[in-house]
Amino acid sequence: SKKLGRNCYNVFKPGMNELMERRRELEGDMDKALQRGEFEVYFQPRVSVATSRITGYEALLRWNHPDRGQISPQEFIPVAEACGKIVSIGAWILRQACTAAVEHFPGQRISVNISPVQFQRAEFVEEARRTVEETGIRPGLLELEITESMLLGDDYGALKRIEKLKSLGFSIALDDFGTGYSSLSYLSKFPFDTIKIDRSFVSGIETNENARLIARTVVDLANSMGKAIVAEGVETAAQAEFLIRCGCGELQGYLLGKPLPISEAIEARQASFED
Ligand code: C2E
Ligand code: CA
Ligand code: CA
Ligand code: CA
Repeated sequence: SKKLGRNCYNVFKPGMNELMERRRELEGDMDKALQRGEFEVYFQPRVSVATSRITGYEALLRWNHPDRGQISPQEFIPVAEACGKIVSIGAWILRQACTAAVEHFPGQRISVNISPVQFQRAEFVEEARRTVEETGIRPGLLELEITESMLLGDDYGALKRIEKLKSLGFSIALDDFGTGYSSLSYLSKFPFDTIKIDRSFVSGIETNENARLIARTVVDLANSMGKAIVAEGVETAAQAEFLIRCGCGELQGYLLGKPLPISEAIEARQASFED
């Protein structure tokens, strides 16, 4: 019966323990990952509907783990946020993205995701300013992507920081629009330059009337507020056509280009000029 007990335990052992174990291991490995050069920045193009040209790139973090292979940011960013390592990792990707943009994508906008854990620190604005100064990127070409969750609870501090970043010339994008809380009140309260429609609405365009209505309404709203509007996760020509008919200014997604390591992003860019 003891044996049965142990088997039962094994069968019913909740996946939670393994998940926590894996997170603990990732957290330990993360310590050395920066020094060992295991992080890599991928670049995904954003394309203007008006010109069919690339207007810029979003920097997306990858972790090339020596034993586990490439790990998705969806898995390791929450771990990095929970243990605070996102602060040094975030500073690293900001610098990498600006350096690569200056060197390889002159005149193009570079968008960098900023974690709430980074953004809520009072030092963030000064660090961003210094990174721009040291890398020589034009502040207007750097766009910081933030999410609504970052604005919850600390309207005043967040507003002051956004205003300061804007006065330094940075652009601010509201990422994953429509997935958080109080989206509309945030739009009136914070001076965003760009709104990114979340992929969940884009992926519903062909099948879901409500997703179509929401996508169209968000595009209209952004256009009438004079903000740039980007649809994320565009995978099919039908989605792109619908968004273009709605007046969406920019598209991002696998249809236009997947996130690629810098050398491949440069190659893809050159190929796009040749046709
Ligand atoms: P996000 O900022 O919403 O980034 C868009 C995600 O959608 C990326 O996933 C991108 O690879 C993926 N994607 C782009 N086009 C398509 C498409 O057509 N179809 C589908 N199915 N997916 C598409 P990724 O690179 O795995 O990043 C996931 C999330 O991790 C990001 O979501 C962002 O929240 C976070 N993240 C990534 N890099 C960083 C970073 O450097 N710092 C911080 N704080 N977060 C990051
Ligand atoms: Ca983003
Ligand atoms: Ca997004
Ligand atoms: Ca997201």
